[in-house]
Amino acid sequence: MGKLDGRVVLVTGGARGQGEQEARLFRAEGAEVVVADVLDDQGAALAEEIGALYVHLDVGREDDWHSAVRAAQDAYGRLDGLVNNAGILRFNALVDTPLDEFMQVVQVNQVGCFLGVKTAAPVLADGGTIVNTASYTAVAGMAAVGSYAATKHAILGLTRVAALELAPRGIRVNAMCPGAVDTAMSNPSLLDPDADPEETSKALDGLYRKLVPLGRVGRPEEVARLALFLTSDDSSYITGQPFVIDGGWLAGVSII
Ligand code: NAD
Repeated sequence: MGKLDGRVVLVTGGARGQGEQEARLFRAEGAEVVVADVLDDQGAALAEEIGALYVHLDVGREDDWHSAVRAAQDAYGRLDGLVNNAGILRFNALVDTPLDEFMQVVQVNQVGCFLGVKTAAPVLADGGTIVNTASYTAVAGMAAVGSYAATKHAILGLTRVAALELAPRGIRVNAMCPGAVDTAMSNPSLLDPDADPEETSKALDGLYRKLVPLGRVGRPEEVARLALFLTSDDSSYITGQPFVIDGGWLAGVSII
């Protein structure tokens, strides 16, 4: 028995990184999975490998959302879960951030999450789940990522409101707040075909050794396990909450 037997779950940004691991784990736990992304070749290859459906979905486009949800229903007859995972990050001090860049981050991270809730919730089966991917920067400030932090704070607001509005149908809405995770977002050298992924991950762990109490960055598989918890009945009495998964980073600083 899998934890998601009989359920159909759509994962945005599912072609790589945390979304890929969520798609893999959910499939292994018995779900039918819809992998949605703008990386069509990578997403389609993953879907073929794990026996999922791939759909092209730019999360900032409302027409794409309607097509993706329709495709899920056509293929599997229902939709039980959504993981709003797609996201982008841009580095800039607030005073140096061009408005275009700020709006680009808002369009993907914040509008994408809003459109996901707006489009999927009406067709989600009663008792369904939505997991929004926020960030450590949804609950703490971080210099040089102002646009990103603003959108991730906004995702917590959307999560709480959606939880209240959808509770009468038994639909639960929660958010994950990962610290640094070893994906292309925090470790761009993972995209370099000449780089050794083990070496680059070790180097990233080294960078965070002093910052994070557990002494390393997180792995996308670890975040996927939290997404599974929030998508399965194991979290049946939990809604509207942010879940920090950060190796203790938010707990505070050590002076010794
Ligand atoms: P990633 O860059 O490997 O994955 C992001 C995925 O989102 C990619 O597959 C990308 O193609 C997809 N995407 C980007 N724009 C899109 C769009 N407009 N429509 C659809 N898909 C789009 O990074 P990741 O770490 O796997 O990121 C997953 C989520 O986790 C993001 O929301 C990110 O903000 C969040 N997060 C990441 C970290 C980290 O350190 N990696 C920490 C906290 C939160």
